[in-house]
Amino acid sequence: MLMQAHATTTGHSGAAIAHPVLEVRNLRVVFPTRHGVLNAVSDVSLTINKGEILGLVGESGAGKSMTGMATLGLLEPPGRIAEGEILLDGRRIDNLPEREMAKIRGRRIGAIFQDPLTSLHPLFTVGAQLVETIRLHLHLSRSQARRRAIDLLKEVGIPAASDRIDDYPHQFSGGMRQRVVIALALAAEPELIIADEPTTALDVSIQAQITALLRRICRERAAAVMLVTHDMGVIAETADRVAVLYAGRIVEVGHVDAVIHAPKHPYAKGLMDSIPPLEGRVARLAQIDGSMPRPDSIPEGCAFHSRCTLAGPHCRIAVPGLVETEGSRTACWLYSGGVEA
Ligand code: SF4
Repeated sequence: MLMQAHATTTGHSGAAIAHPVLEVRNLRVVFPTRHGVLNAVSDVSLTINKGEILGLVGESGAGKSMTGMATLGLLEPPGRIAEGEILLDGRRIDNLPEREMAKIRGRRIGAIFQDPLTSLHPLFTVGAQLVETIRLHLHLSRSQARRRAIDLLKEVGIPAASDRIDDYPHQFSGGMRQRVVIALALAAEPELIIADEPTTALDVSIQAQITALLRRICRERAAAVMLVTHDMGVIAETADRVAVLYAGRIVEVGHVDAVIHAPKHPYAKGLMDSIPPLEGRVARLAQIDGSMPRPDSIPEGCAFHSRCTLAGPHCRIAVPGLVETEGSRTACWLYSGGVEA
């Protein structure tokens, strides 16, 4: 079943954007185990255009990070792509030998992970790491690469960049370290940036600065950004479009305003109810009863049916496909005639 999450859309700026940088088509990621093959990602299709941020959101284990890692060619064995295609600028990259893929990572796809310390070597100055990355991918002399490194540090908001370039990672605060990682990810001017929970380890006030930085970079460099997060608040502030994942599948995808203000899928509605208000606190956030099934116990039919108050008999039998709903595409039988709405 084709579950195409493609959309030609407009960014927050309102400018039309329709240049697909990343296309993921019917991706299935599996983990063979002694007890059978587990589906971590099933039939996921998505497109990210130039200058656009697509948020992938869902609970832990929903398949969002796995989709990012598959795109980077960094699935941990025995995990592997069993079906589907991944195209960067129209060229397939999922079937490239690791040597080729290693060249694409860093050069054409930049990665930002949750913990900046996993991306930075503690024993080298940030300048040494930036210069090495720049020279690995671009034909620049050492002094040219150092100048570029200082410019990148300035661009991501490191004050006194020409002095701080010779500091070690531990001499930076958490937020500043994440800025350094973003500079590292930008070093070779990638057309696609995959940011996996980039703000999760940071204080709330710093989170807003990092999401603002990601948005600015995406706009100014016309890069495509895949933003993987469990946090709907981060999506609301940062993304242009959002794909909500549940048990390895996209259950709703659309423009961020439509999905946040008028979600269609019962699971997406539950997630939206869990966003704390910007001002004040709520005593208790709305919760969806139950938990997401593990990949080894995904039920037949709609994987959400055991938690869904609207489930009908059909929901327990057949997997719903994505259909057009107002402002989004939704995989739920309520919208495709399987359940009385
Ligand atoms: Fe609920 Fe059925 Fe829709 Fe799944 S398909 S979300 S069980 S109504």
